[in-house]
Amino acid sequence: MGEPEPLTCSRAGCRETASWRIEWRNPRIHSADRVKVWLACDEHVDYLREFLAARDFPLRVVPAEGSEVAAERPIA
Ligand SMILES: [Zn+2]
Repeated sequence: MGEPEPLTCSRAGCRETASWRIEWRNPRIHSADRVKVWLACDEHVDYLREFLAARDFPLRVVPAEGSEVAAERPIA
């Protein structure tokens, strides 16, 4: 073993390894350059994205690894 701690899903009670990053902010309390990051496993990425989208928070979902080279996937 000796592996680094894996990224864990942000969904309450979920201990799955995250494969997605959800970058979001609340325009009411966060300035434009303030970005929050949630991590999500394959099962919960849709749940968490819709949780934020329902509140009209700007967000994007990127792969947890190599996100700096991944194409942006803005949510319409
Ligand atoms: Zn999960």
